[in-house]
Amino acid sequence: MSATERAGAGATEGAAVSAPERSGAGATEGAAVSAPEAPVRSRTKVSDAPGTNPPDAPGANSPDAPGANSPDAPGTKPPDAPGAKPPEASDPLHRRLVAFQGLAAATAGTGKDPVNLPMIRHWCEAMGDAHPAYRGPDAVAPPTMLQAWTMGGLSGHTDRSSAYEELFALLDGAGYTSVVATDCEQEYLRPLRPGDEIGFDTVIESVSERKTTKLGTGYFVTTRTDVRAGGALAGTHRFRILKYAPAARPPRQPPARRPRPVINRDNAGFWEGVAGHRLLIQRCGGCASLRLPWLPGCADCGSREWDAVEAGGEGTVFSYVVMHHPSFPAFDPPYAVALIELAEGVRMISNVVGVPYDEVRIGMPVRLGFLRVDEDLELPVFRAGRED
Ligand SMILES: [Zn+2]
Repeated sequence: MSATERAGAGATEGAAVSAPERSGAGATEGAAVSAPEAPVRSRTKVSDAPGTNPPDAPGANSPDAPGANSPDAPGTKPPDAPGAKPPEASDPLHRRLVAFQGLAAATAGTGKDPVNLPMIRHWCEAMGDAHPAYRGPDAVAPPTMLQAWTMGGLSGHTDRSSAYEELFALLDGAGYTSVVATDCEQEYLRPLRPGDEIGFDTVIESVSERKTTKLGTGYFVTTRTDVRAGGALAGTHRFRILKYAPAARPPRQPPARRPRPVINRDNAGFWEGVAGHRLLIQRCGGCASLRLPWLPGCADCGSREWDAVEAGGEGTVFSYVVMHHPSFPAFDPPYAVALIELAEGVRMISNVVGVPYDEVRIGMPVRLGFLRVDEDLELPVFRAGRED
């Protein structure tokens, strides 16, 4: 078992995948090939979630993490420092949490599969890693696959300790119900090769003092998994998560204002009409065809001469859509947007009001009205039914 699995399907899966990618093809791979006997450490921040600096990272006590510098939390000790931390005096929950430090999270776990070439190949393809050390008869596993050999898969772990479950139940019960992976650190002692049978033990290494991050307030829990192959230690995987109570959402912004119409010399007359509660249709000076929306010239004869006639206000729904998604700030879906055919024969897009969005129908008779949206905006709309 590992913290990764407990941390669930969100950030941590991505983390487990992205960690090796970030630790990169440099030191770790080179080490696997050229100096397999030398321990190699790879430290990777596995989550870019905002505000989740691990407690020993610079910034965990920064001014933008209110509460981290509170008087009852003086200083910040590295959570991976050897040895248990004394409990925070003013935090009874922390006293209970630190009692789990040093307890087993998993004992005598075994890998579901021995180290094998198919998993190595899939990993390398997913990572885009074409290093020759991971192919052929003398292939080794990418060191950053260390955790992969211990993972429980979709069916989960069966060897998790009761202490681990109790620790998380305690946190959940106190309201620290969310989880995000923050970083992992691996140390490679010897390369893993196809056929290696994997065994592992995981210990709850540390529980931090209560920390406040931008995500919320909670506790960093660090587990360390010792991975063995053939009984010999092959590497360690230290994984840190933040169990936290999500910060309150910022107060809702006041509703956005409806977009303003773009008024220019070509359509100013239309909006002047709206201001006087008149719906004006352009009429061509050359061929007398009507047009809406307003345009500089006639699409039929090309004439730029025009005058305006007032619509009588009768119309029918020629077509419509009901907007569910995406939502726009000034609108409250679902709502109907209709193409109205005026009695004069031109069409315009507008809203149908006075009827639920799901009762708008093609052919529905409507009548012009004017909707006061806010102090600066009035729009022509169409009310269902002929009568006002
Ligand atoms: Zn014309």
